[in-house]
Amino acid sequence: MEYRSGLGYDVHALAEGLPMWLCGLQVPSDRGFVAHSDGDVAIHALCDALLGAAALGDIGHHFPDTDDTWKGVDSKLLLSKVVALLSGKGYAIANVDITIALQAPKIGFLVPQMRETLAGVMGIDPDKVSVKATTTERLGFVGRGEGCEVWAIVMIYK
Ligand code: MG
Repeated sequence: MEYRSGLGYDVHALAEGLPMWLCGLQVPSDRGFVAHSDGDVAIHALCDALLGAAALGDIGHHFPDTDDTWKGVDSKLLLSKVVALLSGKGYAIANVDITIALQAPKIGFLVPQMRETLAGVMGIDPDKVSVKATTTERLGFVGRGEGCEVWAIVMIYK
């Protein structure tokens, strides 16, 4: 069995009046993420972790923001395409762990549904998907409510 790990990182700025998508769910919020796609910064970090584990480049390479195909796209579609790329190379996903740094709103109550949603898109058991949320104690750009920062780590195998 060949095991490989991957790390993904993404940041999106927050702005008033935009929808906030995280881990495939729309989060109740008066602000959302500035982006070419739906701005799901958590799925973007997850895609980069999966692509990194398989040494398949990064999300910007596969879904460039200069391509109108991906304008406003549901990031769950990007994730399903990334999972298909990995499957094509014979890889399965062992587990996923995501940490979301966001000052507000509180998203902890959505974590079970986020795990179910991501697991459904990836075709794996929710037990293999971890989502954690933290604030930054009002420090830095996250703490000032200017943006959201996400790290994702994955293990894949074949
Ligand atoms: Mg992004």
